Amino acid sequence: MKLFAVCCTLAGLVCAAAPPPPKDARPVVSQAQVNVWTKSWQDVLSLNDWTITTQIVRASSLNPDTLGHLKWDIEKKTALISVLDPLDYQLPPDAIPRDMEFTVLHELVHLRLGELPRSPASRDTEERVVNQIATALFKLQDSHPPRVPQLPTAATEKSKAPDEASRSAH
Ligand SMILES: [Zn+2]
Repeated sequence: MKLFAVCCTLAGLVCAAAPPPPKDARPVVSQAQVNVWTKSWQDVLSLNDWTITTQIVRASSLNPDTLGHLKWDIEKKTALISVLDPLDYQLPPDAIPRDMEFTVLHELVHLRLGELPRSPASRDTEERVVNQIATALFKLQDSHPPRVPQLPTAATEKSKAPDEASRSAH
């Protein structure tokens, strides 16, 4: 079994040191929205032969100062992406959904490159290249909006899945 993992520090987008707003002002990013982002970018990156699960996790489940984590099994072609819960974000609320989507994309680009030889020495280079590719894809999406469908991320949207509330709970 060949298992790999990457911890990703700040994605290519901003991570401004804005003071955290009140919790009730934070946007809700549902598991359904995260699934849409995952599936859409999985299609773009031709990763449809992979079974990819994305979960929203609290900061305590990630390495310090990271926004996301990817673990994959290249033989089983399964991957698990973890993205930071909005409750633990330090960005303004309206910037959080886009940053979370960028993290999903960032981790999928890591997965796309996972077939290449990896070494600790190339880690920083890989991180830089992953951010460059993900940023380029994001820019392309902006110029072709229908490429990745969006679900509403209004603050009023609440998760309906019972396990989501518990995942987000303190
Ligand atoms: Zn990374």
